[in-house]
Parts: sequence; structure tokens; C-alpha cells
Amino acid sequence: MRYIRYAHEDLKFWGMLLTDDLIQPLTAAPYQRGVPLGQPVPLMSVRLLAPCEPGKIVAIGKNYRDHIAEFDSDVPETPIIFIKPSTAVNDPGSPIVLPPPALSRRVDYECELAVLIGKRARHVPTAQAADYILGYTCLNDVTARDIQKQDGQWTRAKGFDGFAPIGPVVTDEVDPGRLAIRTRLNGKIKQESSTANQIWPVGELIAFITACMTLEPGDIVTTGTPSGVGPMQPGDDVEISIEGIGVLRNPVVAAH
Ligand code: MG
Repeated sequence: MRYIRYAHEDLKFWGMLLTDDLIQPLTAAPYQRGVPLGQPVPLMSVRLLAPCEPGKIVAIGKNYRDHIAEFDSDVPETPIIFIKPSTAVNDPGSPIVLPPPALSRRVDYECELAVLIGKRARHVPTAQAADYILGYTCLNDVTARDIQKQDGQWTRAKGFDGFAPIGPVVTDEVDPGRLAIRTRLNGKIKQESSTANQIWPVGELIAFITACMTLEPGDIVTTGTPSGVGPMQPGDDVEISIEGIGVLRNPVVAAH
């Protein structure tokens, strides 16, 4: 199944993609037992929203060996996890607003495979993790790299409003362990890897996280970025694409 969330005539809906350009509206989120209701709507006629309303975004640092090497860092013994606030969620097509230069002069893209949690997950064994996952989507873990270095921890650097574009499609029709993942900046490939290069695959991450904290339906887990991260400037167009899932595109603008 492929799900999206969208705005139509100022109302927000969840929908199921019947074809590449036709949406079946749902009564609620799929993780809140939403069922089909009403006539299909053309995708062209709606504005896409991030396909989630997470209480929290749990993110993984250092999950690709090539990315660890580009920062001259060591492979950690266990996954490094951090939280991005729900206020960082940004919609497909919506601008990434850079902080004013007085706060940050270096804001990077990071392409990531993200997981939408479908049911409450606590103390989940690796082998059962798939039962708690509604589907997979694209996420851009936007990061103020200079603030990350300055603060020594990552909350402010990765927590600005709009620093988590997500979507547009959530699908359960892919194998998360073998997907091509890319970032294009103004059409030029900047990051290119496969989720097969992750140190900890999705199932192990869900087990590791839920040994510590409960994941609720609607929460997002984002699984880290490969090498090739780099800065974005006002006027840029950034595109995260994951094989079998889709393309997440956002323009970049200066602080207003
Ligand atoms: Mg990241």
C-alpha cells in the first residue's frame, strides 16, 4: 500500500494512492484505523503534506561507514540516537528556511530512509520489528553543521523549524535493506548510496530504540545518512530520492 497526506480546499486528509495520480481519501491516518470514504481525488488537485504527525522523530547518527569516514570519526559500538522535535516537520515542496547568518552559515542536506511507526512499540525484538512499521518514506535531516560542532550535541543544529522535510509517499512495498538512496542539489547528484551500506539495519534500530523508549503510532525513525553531505544556499533546489519510494523536493530560501 502507498499512503500520502494532503490538503484539499483547506482541509487535511490521509489518502491511499490508487494509481500514480489518483488518491482514495481515508477517514483517518492508516495507523488510526482510517478507512476509505468518498470519491477518488486527482493528485494534481491537492497540496502534499508530510505523511505523519509524529510525537517525536528519533534519528540515528553515524549509520553508514562512508559518512563516518568523511567526518574522520569512529564507528560507534552502539547506534547514536537523537531527537528532532515535531516542529521540525516540513512538507514536500515547502521551503527549507535557512537560519539568519548570525546563527548559522553552514546548513547541510542529509538524505535518509525514514520509518513510519504503525503501532505502539516497546521492547520489540529485531525479528518482530516489521510488525510495528507502517511503511517507509524519504526524509531530509537538515543540519546546521557549524552549530552542531559549536554545541557539541545536536538538538539545536537539527531542531530548527522545517529542518525535517518528510514524504511524500509512505509505502510498505519495499525491502528497506536494499534501496538506492540519493540527494540531488540543483539536479546534480551529491549523495549516492544504498541502504545495504547501513551498519545497523532498520530491525536492529527499532529493537535498540524500543529497549529505551516507546515508539507511538505516527512517530518517525530516520536511519542516518551516507557520505556526500554538503551545504545548501538560498535559491537551491534539494531532492532526496529513494528507490521504490519516491522523490522529496524542497526549495531553499533565506531567513525572512
Ligand atoms: Mg542524519
